[in-house]
Amino acid sequence: MSAVLKTSDDQAPLVSLRNLNKHYGDFAAVDNINLDIRDGEFLTFLGSSGSGKSTTLSMLAGFETPTSGEILVNGQSLVKVPPHKRDIGMVFQRYSLFPHLDVRANIAFPLTIRKLAAADIEKRVDAMLKLVQLEPFAHRRPAQLSGGQQQRVAIARALVYEPRILLMDEPLGALDKKLREDLQDELRHLHRRLGITIVYVTHDQEEAMRLSQRIAIFSHGRIVGLGTGSDLYQAPPNAFVASFLGNSNFLRATALNAQQVMFEQQPLHVPAQAGRHTGQQVLLMVRPEQAQLLSVEQASEVPLPAGSNEISARVEEVVFLGDSLTYSLVTAGGSRLSLKALSVAATVQATGSEVRVRWQVAHTCVYHDWDDSDLLKGAGSH
Ligand code: ADP
Ligand code: MG
Repeated sequence: MSAVLKTSDDQAPLVSLRNLNKHYGDFAAVDNINLDIRDGEFLTFLGSSGSGKSTTLSMLAGFETPTSGEILVNGQSLVKVPPHKRDIGMVFQRYSLFPHLDVRANIAFPLTIRKLAAADIEKRVDAMLKLVQLEPFAHRRPAQLSGGQQQRVAIARALVYEPRILLMDEPLGALDKKLREDLQDELRHLHRRLGITIVYVTHDQEEAMRLSQRIAIFSHGRIVGLGTGSDLYQAPPNAFVASFLGNSNFLRATALNAQQVMFEQQPLHVPAQAGRHTGQQVLLMVRPEQAQLLSVEQASEVPLPAGSNEISARVEEVVFLGDSLTYSLVTAGGSRLSLKALSVAATVQATGSEVRVRWQVAHTCVYHDWDDSDLLKGAGSH
């Protein structure tokens, strides 16, 4: 059986970006990107505005020329191949449809120029109209459609000839939430059915998580994290990714030894890591839902389990969010923490009360880059 099962890591990449750069004067919009894209995967570029996502995608599509570096598809350089010969479909946030053609003819266009048989065109266009829920609008012109409907036509038009690679740059950004979620589900199912490779751009982390098999996190023209949504969330490779993806608590501490750090005059256990030296300043990261809140009485009754840390704090604010509660806490040393508890399980700790916070050592991430203020400054602006 193991001979048949192959992980995608064994496959040669479909697309490789090698030392890819795009400079505008002195400014590096794309700063030395290296990335392998697997055949058939759904990969998303996620990052805040201006981080270089669209520029990278445009170089892949052929609308921008790299300042330096290579783009390889199946090992062949694409850099000199014109856009229409790349077997790549593209959907932009604002896609210009042909204003004089109706919806049906717009979607049919890529098939018409490829001279498919009329019956085949009919069949494929019907399937696309159904997919994007535009059957009743088949004979309208773009000007008679809402922005969201126009974008669905653009998506259908890019997909109708089933290109090997589909590039999508914030294609759902103009749609309302419900329709966006429906189309996210449709896109995911469609990707699974067609088996095409999709490279998708968004600044919306939830959208990235919902759609993608892997996410590349962009910051200042560089890829600063690459992996599945779950890997990037559970074990962020750096403090920037930790703060960009989801909510995070950061505690500044000083390394004592391989397995302990000092936080506000209190020793805490951390996962062992090679190369950490005594006196080194480190940043601990704990997710708000990974920490447990106890009253002082509860903490005195339940001994601290092995492999856990405990610190004292005071409740500053409790916010009820329906399915969950968010606590804002402050420690004696002035560090701030946010904790999330399911409302069904929670005994509410009142504002002002002294509490104990516990979390498992295994759920602690340790970073050595906390004085790299740039990393944290860029976060949270999305
Ligand atoms: P994103 O898609 O992540 O929002 P872009 O790739 O569009 O970011 O842009 C990255 C950076 O490059 C931005 O700072 C943008 O202003 C700059 N940029 C993009 N295109 C040009 C251009 N034609 N001339 C100068 N600067 C540009
Ligand atoms: Mg963009």
